[in-house]
Amino acid sequence: MWKTGTGGGSSGVGLVLCACPNCGAIAEVTASCLLGSTHGGVQHGRIQCVNRHHFVTPLERLVRLEGFDETDR
Ligand SMILES: [Zn+2]
Repeated sequence: MWKTGTGGGSSGVGLVLCACPNCGAIAEVTASCLLGSTHGGVQHGRIQCVNRHHFVTPLERLVRLEGFDETDR
């Protein structure tokens, strides 16, 4: 059900960094999943911050940290 971003597929979330909702530290989206709700499906992300907090939250509510994924290719 959960799709991790490390499988090399095109449907994964890849490496997405965001701010931890709890402590504000850098967190990584490790998986994504379409979870049902009253409005249909909402794409949720499983995130883990550097302080080992785990969250499952809608991806659209995440605060992306622009620039952190601009590594050399
Ligand atoms: Zn945290």
